[in-house]
Amino acid sequence: MIDGHTRTCGLLGNPVEHTLSPVIHNYLAQQMGVNLVYVPFCVPQEHLQEAVQGAHALQLFGLNVTVPFKSKIIPFLKELDPLAEQIGAVNTLVPTKDGYKGYNTDMPGLYRAMTQDGVKIEGEQVIILGAGGVARAVAVLMVQKGASRVVILNRTLSKAQLIAEEVNGFQNQIKVEALELHQYEMLANQGKYLVIQATNIGMVPNENEAVIEEDSFYHMVHTGYDLIFNPACTRFLHKTQEHGGKAFNGMGMLLYQGIIAYELWTGTKVTNDLAAGAFHRMQQALGQR
Ligand code: NAP
Repeated sequence: MIDGHTRTCGLLGNPVEHTLSPVIHNYLAQQMGVNLVYVPFCVPQEHLQEAVQGAHALQLFGLNVTVPFKSKIIPFLKELDPLAEQIGAVNTLVPTKDGYKGYNTDMPGLYRAMTQDGVKIEGEQVIILGAGGVARAVAVLMVQKGASRVVILNRTLSKAQLIAEEVNGFQNQIKVEALELHQYEMLANQGKYLVIQATNIGMVPNENEAVIEEDSFYHMVHTGYDLIFNPACTRFLHKTQEHGGKAFNGMGMLLYQGIIAYELWTGTKVTNDLAAGAFHRMQQALGQR
């Protein structure tokens, strides 16, 4: 029921039409009796600054930020949470008196999803496929949570090297390594790996593709964690399972980045039952159930 007390939250991105965030937030608000609506805002690239200022003037209650604005939005914020600063990307804005404070809930969202899925990071050898915005956050998470080794494999080696250099600059216990995709062969016969798939290869409508096709790679994988959530089982996950590995998709990460944002905006705590309800709604929205 929308009335004079309804508060508005939303998503700044371009494009935004395929987002599942309204499904998560509107479900949580309804179930928890919070008078809030969540809507997508497709922002023209050249109007990001005005969009942020306008949103604050309209006293929007909270915002998410998606592609292509996660880094570009930082100069227009009044404050930055230290984790978002370290990752260099923001996906959640919380209003303060003079402007918005930026947070990154993608990384804690992924961690909460991995914990729920029973996937351990501490002591594990980790391969990250891809060196885009999300891969950088994943590399930070893996070193922070005590992986024993982190190797980034990417088509463009220089991008993987840049992330490795930046993350290594944080003085971690371990050094992040960077290789080209095909150089995974250098990692064979050194035990098995937790592999996080952070490229966009395999997403609908290209679900017949995997960023690495060779079976010899999948022999090295004990757990495959694909950040893609549509389709539910990507070719990467399918091949991981075929070779005896455990497989998880990115729906949990998407859910928990949303839940952590919702908790920041409302000061509430989302229960496991409500999280499961939101997860179910997301699957329905994608036609996965
Ligand atoms: P991005 O910055 O655009 O990075 C894309 C990555 O994919 C780059 O490493 C790129 O390699 C690689 N790539 C693209 N086309 C390729 C090809 N044909 N062959 C080999 N590699 C290719 O993307 P992002 O924002 O980091 O997102 C990465 C993935 O994470 C996406 O699939 C996205 O859906 C997913 N994601 C999931 C969630 C969630 O909540 N589950 C949240 C955010 C993102 P180059 O460097 O060589 O170009």
